Amino acid sequence: MNRLNIINELPDAFLNVSYRDIKKVFEQPTLIHLEGNKSPALFVSILLHGNEFSGLEILQDIFKKYQTDNGYNLPRDLWLFVGNVDAAELGLRAIDGQVDFNRAWPGTPDPQTDTAKLIEKVFETINQDPLFAAIDLHNNTGQNPHYGCITDDTEENKYLCAFFNHIGMVFKSPKGVSTMAFDGICPAITLECSTPGNKPAKEKAFALLDDLMHMDHFPTKPLAQHDLQLVKNSATVKINQNITFCFEDDVESNTDTDLTIVKNFDHHNFTMLEKGEVFAYTKVDQPLLVISPEGEDITYEIIQNKNGNLSLKTAMMPAMITMDKSIVLQDCLCYLLEDY
Ligand SMILES: [Zn+2]
Repeated sequence: MNRLNIINELPDAFLNVSYRDIKKVFEQPTLIHLEGNKSPALFVSILLHGNEFSGLEILQDIFKKYQTDNGYNLPRDLWLFVGNVDAAELGLRAIDGQVDFNRAWPGTPDPQTDTAKLIEKVFETINQDPLFAAIDLHNNTGQNPHYGCITDDTEENKYLCAFFNHIGMVFKSPKGVSTMAFDGICPAITLECSTPGNKPAKEKAFALLDDLMHMDHFPTKPLAQHDLQLVKNSATVKINQNITFCFEDDVESNTDTDLTIVKNFDHHNFTMLEKGEVFAYTKVDQPLLVISPEGEDITYEIIQNKNGNLSLKTAMMPAMITMDKSIVLQDCLCYLLEDY
């Protein structure tokens, strides 16, 4: 089982290490506590998904900014959790069969796994004193803009979303994600920083973290409505079991599959997919499974199949579309959003 490593000093090697070499610095999942000039502390988690390395680079930039001759002069106390180092070393989101580090936080339906117990220890440790905010840094695999995800629509959380981008997402499932665990405890947000290494997204996330290091408190007046378009996840689209599929773009695998997703489907991220607009072709009756946030099968309410042409019954906005087949199988093809 993975033991949690808790330390009070940042090894110098952290500053320039690549995610594939992270185990040369931290052999195990590691929680680092660094004192700054004010409390309460900011909590940041990175590499909960091993191949989403922007978070590592953003934190390296933060530390470089505040590095001094004898350590770091951070404006605020900081907790940093470096999550799935084993998957990071292999360049994977998660290792096959491994519990997802962002499905194992308090509230998870499977609290008995070793990973859930490790994260419970992280959660207990950081919550001994109040927290200023909790920020979880991720990347997408498809062509998504950067945006924040919150699980509770408090004014503070909406501010966190709006600081990052003019669009933000509210979600209530899956359970066991980091951000949800902080509901009722402190402002919390998942920052989806576009594809790994994407520079504009990294700069926005850096600016937000740096602001949070300095801020005395969140704004007290409500956020102006036009500053943020909040959307919610209304459905998750998965490929049904034992269905073979390919992307039209991917000529090599474009052979005799049950399901073919149209070319450039990932360009539809955060762009309306109109009613009746065909997004896939199928040779079988029900290649897709659409699940509501409550976990119900809503395939027939959402998707129509006309002579093998698949489209939506009402216009919705896809997000988190990935063209990476292994991610599609591990997670989903996309989410479908509506205005919150
Ligand atoms: Zn992620």
